[in-house]
Amino acid sequence: MLVSLTTGADPGHVSRELVRRGLWVKRLESAAGVHFVVGEHSAQVAFEDLRGITGVADVAQPTSAHPLVDAQGPTVEVGDRLVGVGAPLAVLAGPCSVESEEQIHAVAARVAAAGATLLRGGAYKPRTSPYAFQGHGRPALRWMVEAARAHGLGVVTEVLDPGDAEAVAEHADLLQVGSRNMHNHALLRAAAATGKPILLKRGMAATVEEWLCAGEVCLLHGASGVVFCERGIRGFDPSTRNVLDLGSVALLAHALKLPVVVDPSHATGRRDLIPALATAAVSAGAHGLLLETHDDPGTALSDGPQALVPDEFDRLLGSLTRPVRPTTGATS
Ligand code: PEP
Ligand code: MN
Repeated sequence: MLVSLTTGADPGHVSRELVRRGLWVKRLESAAGVHFVVGEHSAQVAFEDLRGITGVADVAQPTSAHPLVDAQGPTVEVGDRLVGVGAPLAVLAGPCSVESEEQIHAVAARVAAAGATLLRGGAYKPRTSPYAFQGHGRPALRWMVEAARAHGLGVVTEVLDPGDAEAVAEHADLLQVGSRNMHNHALLRAAAATGKPILLKRGMAATVEEWLCAGEVCLLHGASGVVFCERGIRGFDPSTRNVLDLGSVALLAHALKLPVVVDPSHATGRRDLIPALATAAVSAGAHGLLLETHDDPGTALSDGPQALVPDEFDRLLGSLTRPVRPTTGATS
């Protein structure tokens, strides 16, 4: 249940009245004003009684398990950019892992020149094997920010541990929660509590409804917005690393009107298939693309086979039909 307030209402008064009636409430503030979400295990109180509280404008009974996601709208602010409907195609590009300071500066220069929006790269890596490279951690966060700022890019990077959420949020414009952690509510809550927008990757075995509910956790706990990222789901066929579900992309973009980006890199695991699927993703309605790049994929510390080399990356961005740069404002 969602309680909305009249303009000029005293939220403290409304909150006290709700709590006095045995309701467990969580206060939410957005551009649309203050709302109270009433928790599931609250007392049963008649709608008329709640509507009678001074300052209450309306009480909405959600028919959906993710009312905040439903109400979010199709565009999310990420740093000083917008991602979603009406915004230029967002391009989140960079290496799988941040391997060194020199590497991330070189990649940032190259992807910025091609028209990328955000620099991506893992400082903390969720690897299947505990013996594989786990990321450089804090130093990599600093290298990323310096490289991104030097080339006018924003930063998106993954948070793996609730204890690192604050540190990651100090460096990133968009906090990535990876596929392996989509169901990890403790991590979602910690990432959301930083107030930053979240790039929520779809769990590799998650239904769309579960994905939207994970988005609801983020919004309920303070995230300023959620950008959904389709990165492929597990199928039975190992020919591609995952199965890229473009139906879900069309569903989110067109029917649910939510910001959604597509990651053809992790979806296919093969650089030769990425241009075709990136183009298909944009046709399906994706508002952005997450693309892994590396100047020497053979030596990459993670995910080399799916990294585009810089020339391939340039060609792909040049071939996309939606503008990757803002069409208004600066002319350079
Ligand atoms: C990544 O984007 O770095 C990553 C690990 O992806 P996923 O969570 O989709 O596997
Ligand atoms: Mn990767």
